Amino acid sequence: MDDLENILEKAAERPHALSRGERAALLSLEGPEEIERLFGAAYDLKVRYCGKTVAMRGIIEAGNICAKDCLYCGIRKSNAKLERYSLDADDIVRLAEFDAARGYASLVIQSGEIESEAHTRFIEDVLRRIAPLNLGVTLSLGEQTEDVYRRWREAGAARYLLRVETSNRGLYSRLHPEGHSFDRRVECLRALRRCGYQVGTGVMCALPGQTAEDLADDIGFFAEMDADMIGMGPFIPHPDTPLGGEGFDARRRLMAGLKMIAVTRLHLHDVNIAAATALQALADDGRERGIMAGANVIMPNITDVKYRRGYQLYQNKPCLDENASLCASCLERRLAAIGERVGYGKRGDSLHYRLRAGETE
Ligand code: SAH
Ligand code: SF4
Repeated sequence: MDDLENILEKAAERPHALSRGERAALLSLEGPEEIERLFGAAYDLKVRYCGKTVAMRGIIEAGNICAKDCLYCGIRKSNAKLERYSLDADDIVRLAEFDAARGYASLVIQSGEIESEAHTRFIEDVLRRIAPLNLGVTLSLGEQTEDVYRRWREAGAARYLLRVETSNRGLYSRLHPEGHSFDRRVECLRALRRCGYQVGTGVMCALPGQTAEDLADDIGFFAEMDADMIGMGPFIPHPDTPLGGEGFDARRRLMAGLKMIAVTRLHLHDVNIAAATALQALADDGRERGIMAGANVIMPNITDVKYRRGYQLYQNKPCLDENASLCASCLERRLAAIGERVGYGKRGDSLHYRLRAGETE
């Protein structure tokens, strides 16, 4: 690419500077040296906005019961091979206390999608019980009504992660069965914003049939939605799903995930970007490489080991046998090796959100 240096410089000067074509060209880079320059420019921006610190959010996989049947996901409703579990409120509170004691100051509660009054109340109860811990609590519990989102916000959740999965409507419908609606997903993101959440979205990359232009549009979608946080990861096939026959192809998927992080950082600048666990499923040091490509958040799994096998969204999910303390010290070591440290004691609100909310920095 002849003008790579100019494009990277322009991107670093101000957010939203890259055209769709430039984003697609950067996402299509194949030469190792060019890719290194892309990652280097994105990492410089990460350091400019977030310092050499990585924000941690312990993630609790609260249950694998799901009403949906997304064709790519290992815990989809139709996967009969799976034993279903759901943590009780005491379990979640105990794990939240562990998270707080580790000094992470931030927590994610994720599960399959359940829409019911009993589930809504259950989450409300959990949120009220963990409120005294003063954690930045993120929920990732799928599509819900605006009323439910509001109740959870009032009970203490501050952030919500709902990936749009792909901004290409046609591709979305090929990845989901009937009754799963792209429009509802987008409407949910708008409802979350109206309820005052810090809103996180994201996509999978290396999806079957997905192009560089699709991914360039995904980044445009994040900008348009004014997202505060981005969670992205490569699609990794799961054998017990309809898309299980797609090749594992670790290197290609890893590079697609890393390039997507880098170009998103270059285009959006001040958002929180997570180095997804899926990166680590593809390479042992996948998450550290995500940080070096511009991400600033890692979500260590703090779920009890006995439940981890039940929450395999994709194959090769790492750390199935490691308890949460082990995961934490392992991560510290890994980050130190790349000159980064854990941002203890910080709730880690995205700078983008703080600026939008009127804080000056
Ligand atoms: N049910 C909630 C949260 C759990 S799923 C929801 O869907 O929002 C969390 C994320 O896992 C999804 O958004 C999807 O992007 C990701 N995921 C599911 N299956 C995957 C796979 N095979 N490879 C990579 N990521 C996957
Ligand atoms: Fe359920 Fe989320 Fe998996 Fe879809 S991606 S099947 S909503 S857990």
